[in-house]
Amino acid sequence: MPLRERQLTINFSTPFRVGSGLGRGLGLDHTAVRDAWGLPYIPASTLKGRLRSLCKRVALTLAATDPVYNNICQTLDNREACKPAANEKPCIICQLFGSRFWPGALRFSDGRLSETQQTQRTELLLRQRLHPGKIDPALAQARTQIRISRHRGVAEAKFLFCGEALPKTLIFTARINIIGDLAAAAENLLDWGVRLLTHLGAQKSRGLGQCRLSLL
Ligand SMILES: [Zn+2]
Repeated sequence: MPLRERQLTINFSTPFRVGSGLGRGLGLDHTAVRDAWGLPYIPASTLKGRLRSLCKRVALTLAATDPVYNNICQTLDNREACKPAANEKPCIICQLFGSRFWPGALRFSDGRLSETQQTQRTELLLRQRLHPGKIDPALAQARTQIRISRHRGVAEAKFLFCGEALPKTLIFTARINIIGDLAAAAENLLDWGVRLLTHLGAQKSRGLGQCRLSLL
């Protein structure tokens, strides 16, 4: 099986939080996901999931003029993903991203802090050592929101929503391994998805997580 590797770079233009859904016991309701060393990263499943849904929308649009993008399976959870007969390939989305019935050509790695950012990496590591278990104000901005009480129509003073927002200067890289021969139309679709993805992570409506991806 031929194997190629492409490199995905993620640049943010606003602060961002790719969340873990866990509080980490830091008094924050929502924190960014971090690796064993305490460095933020972007999980492979997040990258794959966002690109899959975006590529599907692109394919459904392109199908109007290009029959190669026809017959995209429409399910969200893959329960009814297209099940190819012998010697047949599934739809172009399942060829790329896989399904219950097909392994898929793309293998995503986690997005890690770019190797070119050694100084930022070292600084983040040192900060984790200096502030174990505490909120580092240089790294995590606590955002405060006050909820309006439906019953009384006033601000609930006690309810504070805090979330981390990591600085937009952090750059991440991920590997996408492509296993086997991928049809040109499928790889074009991946390139469109990468080009059209505009945000990652939480609180898009508040402007967090605006980003630009590039694929080498
Ligand atoms: Zn499919």
